[in-house]
Amino acid sequence: MSEFKPILAIVIPCFNEELCVNSTAEKLLEILRILSDKNKISEKSYLYFVDDGSTDKTWQIIEELHNANPLVKGLKFIRNFGNQKALIAGYEGVRDIGCDCAVSIDADLQQDEFAIETFVDKFTSGADIVSGIRNSRDTDTFFKKTSAVMFYKLMNMLGAKIPLNHSDYRLVSKRALDIMEMYPEKYLFLRGFFNDVGLKTEYVNFDVKPRMAGESKFNFVKLMGLALNGITSFSVVPLRIVSILGFIMAFVSFLIGLETIFEKIFLHNTPNGWATTILLLCFFGGIQICCLGVIGEYVGQVYREVKARPRYIKETELK
Ligand code: UDP
Ligand code: MG
Repeated sequence: MSEFKPILAIVIPCFNEELCVNSTAEKLLEILRILSDKNKISEKSYLYFVDDGSTDKTWQIIEELHNANPLVKGLKFIRNFGNQKALIAGYEGVRDIGCDCAVSIDADLQQDEFAIETFVDKFTSGADIVSGIRNSRDTDTFFKKTSAVMFYKLMNMLGAKIPLNHSDYRLVSKRALDIMEMYPEKYLFLRGFFNDVGLKTEYVNFDVKPRMAGESKFNFVKLMGLALNGITSFSVVPLRIVSILGFIMAFVSFLIGLETIFEKIFLHNTPNGWATTILLLCFFGGIQICCLGVIGEYVGQVYREVKARPRYIKETELK
């Protein structure tokens, strides 16, 4: 057995998690202790909380934890930037501080923290990315369950290979973090990115628990935003579908035009076909608006990226 003991950084995005932070820190520090006792990780391994602009006592608690134990580190955003930005900031933060691998986990510890040991084992035996896969979605509402499954199926159909039931619970190596730095896009969709880079990836199944305390910080609008960003940043297939659809529509219109002229000249029965006219009008009108919407989403994506605003703004950092 080699003597290599990687420094593991655990990244924890938090948004108004005052009810969870303390016990989460305690449990994760315990995991670090267990793994370092087993000589699987360095005793310099640490936790890195990213406070995504909480308005409650979350940051205060993180500061107290840091003062009591320097292995608890943290970063505070100036305002809420969303879970993906908090994760990216976490990965960038631990890369700067220094680590050999980083695991991201939710502040409510819905993911089974004991799977981290398996993550580390797979990393030690050569994987650059270890993706956590949920065993079931029993803790999710029916709506979230079905919409999530539909989203992952759609993403795969569109060409972005994301495993079903993957979440942001994963281990990434320093190498993967270095590669992430080479992707300048501001709205990086992590689930797509890490499955796309081509690094050696392993999968680990884990159980999902109910939320420890507090309420879910994700609502329908946020989930929709995440899904649309995932699609528009990882696939241009919808645009291609729109062009193909446009081509088919043009062809069909041409045939209908021919038929109309034929009726007018040879059959002299043009007043007929009122229903057909209305139907076609609605049909094509609908498709056109829909296509405009799809194109609009991509224009929006380009617009956001072109502005190149910072991904997030730091307020304080505890290293
Ligand atoms: N989160 C965040 N910023 C947000 C929303 C959520 O950093 O704007 C964090 C949240 O604190 C938690 C993780 O993202 O650690 C997952 O959120 P949550 O558990 O509320 O989502 P769910 O499990 O219901 O999908
Ligand atoms: Mg949760």
